[in-house]
Amino acid sequence: MAKIIDGKAFAEGLRGRIAKAVDVLKSKHGFTPGLAVVLVGEDPASKVYVANKAKQTVEVGMNSWEHRLPAETSEKDLLAMVERLNADPAVDGILVQLPLPKHIDSTKVLTAIAPAKDVDGFHVVNVGKLSTGQDSLVPCTPVGSVMLARDVLGKLDGVEAVVIGRSNIVGKPVAQLLLAENCTVTIAHSRTKDLPGVVRRADLVIAAVGRPEMVKGDWLKPGATVIDVGINRIERDGKGKLVGDCDFASCEKVAGAITPVPGGVGPMTIACLLYNTVKAACAARGINQPEM
Ligand code: NAD
Repeated sequence: MAKIIDGKAFAEGLRGRIAKAVDVLKSKHGFTPGLAVVLVGEDPASKVYVANKAKQTVEVGMNSWEHRLPAETSEKDLLAMVERLNADPAVDGILVQLPLPKHIDSTKVLTAIAPAKDVDGFHVVNVGKLSTGQDSLVPCTPVGSVMLARDVLGKLDGVEAVVIGRSNIVGKPVAQLLLAENCTVTIAHSRTKDLPGVVRRADLVIAAVGRPEMVKGDWLKPGATVIDVGINRIERDGKGKLVGDCDFASCEKVAGAITPVPGGVGPMTIACLLYNTVKAACAARGINQPEM
């Protein structure tokens, strides 16, 4: 049976190290890093995410600002808010919660965020830096996924990795990070032929598809490490349930290690957002980032 990778415990440890780093910044450098989160509209899942982000930001000792705007906010007004946050020296990180209402062009809004404050790592400048191997703010879920893989496998040099999914939010950045760790990386997607055959080559599988329990145990190389990014809400036995993109029951029999859903990659995302905020705050002031 596979080792279960405890993302919740790992994220808790990381948040503890971030809280210590924030203490150092306050006591030695006299400032408190701050994160501003902008939510447009009433999407219930987004409201929960934003509330969790604010709670955890405060728990590690940072400043947190929540800007809740009505669903009918114009693109112009949202861009004006982003500009105000860009210009505010107390704000080190800006996160605009996605998805945005349909009348707003998300790309335009994400591009308006100052790259140095882009703690989601979605700005083209940060995407370009990541893909050319320059230090940058990297998307949170991909960083968290690779941290968990490294925790299991140690150095990832030469590891045969298969990433399933090619989104800008998860698949592509996770593949870039694995490349930077010297993995041999295959990106599989909806048009990949013989997906089980491709997945069977992998020592490390990262699934970011959004299809409940798609990856089966008999697709895996025995002993493979499986990082399941998927979060899918399904109905089973008349009850709502969260499941990943991997069929946990069959995969845990073949894998060497596997993340559960929930409690695997999920908790890593906010911890990495807080990490990015500290990183941005230090870079803005030209000081060395404390150990985290
Ligand atoms: P997306 O819909 O943008 O991308 C999905 C990708 O999967 C696409 O590139 C597509 O080519 C690929 N795909 C679709 N069907 C496929 C198939 N049958 N075979 C192979 N590939 C297929 O999704 P996303 O934003 O990358 O998110 C993926 C999953 O990760 C979702 O379940 C999402 O909820 C979850 N997620 C979790 C976190 C977190 O843990 N905090 C963060 C972001 C996304």
